[in-house]
Amino acid sequence: MRAVTFQAPGEVRVEERPEPELLAPDDAIVQVAATGVCGSDLHIYHGRVAIEPGFTIGHEYVGTVLAAGEAVTRVAVGDRVLGCFQTACGTCFFCRHGNFHKCDESRTFGHGATLGSLAGTQAERALIPHANLVLRGIPDSLSDDSALFAGDVMGTGYHAVINAGLSAGDSVAVLGLGPVGLCAVQAARVAGAAQVIAIDRVPDRLEMAASFGAQPVHLDDEDPRAAVKAATGGRGVDVVVEAVGAPPALDLAIRLASRCGVVSVVGVYAERCEVHMGLVWIKSLQMRTGHANVIAHLDAVLALMEAGRLDPSPLVSHHMTLDQAPEAYALYDRREALKIVLRP
Ligand code: NAD
Ligand code: ZN
Ligand code: ZN
Repeated sequence: MRAVTFQAPGEVRVEERPEPELLAPDDAIVQVAATGVCGSDLHIYHGRVAIEPGFTIGHEYVGTVLAAGEAVTRVAVGDRVLGCFQTACGTCFFCRHGNFHKCDESRTFGHGATLGSLAGTQAERALIPHANLVLRGIPDSLSDDSALFAGDVMGTGYHAVINAGLSAGDSVAVLGLGPVGLCAVQAARVAGAAQVIAIDRVPDRLEMAASFGAQPVHLDDEDPRAAVKAATGGRGVDVVVEAVGAPPALDLAIRLASRCGVVSVVGVYAERCEVHMGLVWIKSLQMRTGHANVIAHLDAVLALMEAGRLDPSPLVSHHMTLDQAPEAYALYDRREALKIVLRP
């Protein structure tokens, strides 16, 4: 089958790869109908998140169940399904406490040996371990394009807000208006944020945030700190979502937060980074970080998407074929696309 593989920084390739095979009784194989290119794939593309050359990448996917082991009971062959970007066992200590994202057996699709050697989903077919937990039937009312967001990007935007403990009436700033940040804007509005200030430097992305009801602020042409002060009586925002994964954004997030505020970092970090702990300390900030617990949020996210209250569909800017993956990565890297959906 054909699959998108990482070769070297700045280079992905479409190659022939062996067909996936069922290995455990709760495995399934999905015929991929659509797979997204994510900001996390860009970290691999840039060589910042290091994986083995030749490894199949991608972790956003919807499709049809092609085969399932005897222990797979919650989905069946022929079902139209969406999947989460990570797997979890459902029975370990962390899963028993609802922390599926930190499962002992957690593996992330398309992230090489460091995250469990699980082949990615930018391929014609993918092996899905622990399919009872990782896969979910797609409600009839949701398109493939929308469903694609539930198992990663919308689940992460939702997590960024809910995990911050946002209360109705809170003020929120979102740093980074890629798909994750834009989903966080929607989730913050749905969770009752009184105002959402949306910060980036890409004009189209700022416009999209404004269309979702946020106040757009240009990172360089405007002064985000002044804008946040003006909007919050000088206090700063109650919740800051860092949806970038870069030290300057984290530093700004700490400065935009109000005393006793929460900085919710869903942007990926793979290295040491300097944090102004004096500011964190004197402002009594809380910081929430890490992978999003998308498995735990799936019911809420799907219910809100079915009800039309969360709607990621405007974020899909491009449909391309799997064979066009090299072009898709380059386009997304230049921030000329928002969400690219590849169809094998
Ligand atoms: P993206 O690359 O499309 O978007 C990042 C945006 O940040 C861009 O629009 C860019 O212009 C903007 N930006 C860059 N520097 C900035 C700064 N200093 N201040 C404000 N904005 C800045 O990525 P995405 O797909 O939206 O993902 C965002 C981040 O979330 C990435 O780091 C990704 O790896 C991460 N992510 C995390 C999880 C998780 O489970 N925690 C899940 C999915 C994605
Ligand atoms: Zn992703
Ligand atoms: Zn587990």
